[in-house]
Amino acid sequence: MEKKGPPLLQLKGIVKRFPGVTALSGVDFSLEPGEVHVLLGENGAGKSTLIKILSGVYTPDGGEIWFGGDRARIENPHKAMDYGIATIYQEFSLVPDMTVAENICLGKEPKLGRLFINPKEMIETAREVLGKLGLELDPQRKARTLRVGEQQMVEIAKALSIESKVLILDEPTAALTDREIEHLFEIIQELKRQDVGIIYISHRLEEIQVIGDRVTVLRDGQYVGTRRVAETTVDDLISMIVGEEIKEKFPKESAPIGRELLRVEGLTARGAFEDVSFTLSEGEVLGFAGLLGAGHKELIRTIIGLWTYESGTISISGEPVNVSRPSVAIRHGVTYLPADRKLEGLVLPLSVKDNISLAGLKQFVRGGFLQLRRERKAAGDYFSRLDIKAPGINTLSRFLSGGNQQKVVLARALCSQSRIFLFDEPTRGIDVGAKVEIYQLINELAKQGA
Ligand code: ADP
Ligand code: MG
Repeated sequence: MEKKGPPLLQLKGIVKRFPGVTALSGVDFSLEPGEVHVLLGENGAGKSTLIKILSGVYTPDGGEIWFGGDRARIENPHKAMDYGIATIYQEFSLVPDMTVAENICLGKEPKLGRLFINPKEMIETAREVLGKLGLELDPQRKARTLRVGEQQMVEIAKALSIESKVLILDEPTAALTDREIEHLFEIIQELKRQDVGIIYISHRLEEIQVIGDRVTVLRDGQYVGTRRVAETTVDDLISMIVGEEIKEKFPKESAPIGRELLRVEGLTARGAFEDVSFTLSEGEVLGFAGLLGAGHKELIRTIIGLWTYESGTISISGEPVNVSRPSVAIRHGVTYLPADRKLEGLVLPLSVKDNISLAGLKQFVRGGFLQLRRERKAAGDYFSRLDIKAPGINTLSRFLSGGNQQKVVLARALCSQSRIFLFDEPTRGIDVGAKVEIYQLINELAKQGA
């Protein structure tokens, strides 16, 4: 790729702060026409925040954006569209009850006269855009009937129907099948030929080697560096992503191993996992690893009673238990901390106090009455013990930063007096500082015999 004139797009020293966390501190980034520039980093590194700044969702607190040779101000999503920046988010945004054609032309429908939409021309336009991408999709199908991969293709078609110069894809392959990924990559090659610049967010290293020209790594909101993909090994990328101070970031302490708490034998849930056996004892931290879809998430959900199993046994403290519902698991001292605290973990409209005491509510009830003072005291104790950063325990949980929300979920788990804790990616999307604190809490639980 020979250089000609200024880059298509240039970010200089971008800063973005949220309450309690600096999501970006001085990030540089540039994009050439026809280039795929990968944005890489762990969860919480700041990737999504950076592209939301580019697409006019957030205003930066510092730094400059240059478009072509000019300083740009992307104050809102409309401005981004004017600049020819199109973004495809992780969550898709098609209108389910509209057709493919209606979705593609949304907001810029071809007209019959001044008032009426011209349906024929709309279908033609859609067919043309889809054709350019080599997509054989019926423009009259309802978006609701499309598979995830097809929905994404329509999103891309929609973005291109406004002749975008910059296309941003936020983890586009996360929910795609291998065949769909292949197809997406073909489309990306085609867009490169049309001189579209592509910002591609991913944390799949294998993928970057295939699709990327350059890669920029972010770590905890810091700019780590930019490399040419062809001149960079996977090992180089890993050390850029993780940094040098692995020991400080993962402070493992060992606790004495005590009695067996949990025994799983031959557990099978068809379609999710098969014949899984393991034991877990007091003081032990047991890890489960695997690629997306490997079955470890379903396994955890089975042990808490949120997923059904066909065969195998689960024994808790030596006694076989039929974990048919979460309440059964909870009664046996099992607590689950889901990865998506917004969906499953935390009741956002409730206060910090109410969220903490939720699981342990029974201990605060005497003769049918909730003992408010005891509940308050327990919540207050955990609030200060976990160093939750919020104005007070009556603050609504939705106003807390990710790391502090996760600590509230943890406080609730501690308040529930459980012995077995199932954590699903407990440090996803939170600050390094808060991550280390959460690892230390896990260490502490282990030392207390959990
Ligand atoms: P990535 O996309 O790399 O996983 P994000 O850009 O989503 O990371 O997040 C970077 C940091 O900013 C994280 O610590 C996250 O919790 C925080 N963050 C992101 N969006 C918000 C928000 N709207 N309010 C508060 N904190 C946020
Ligand atoms: Mg993200």
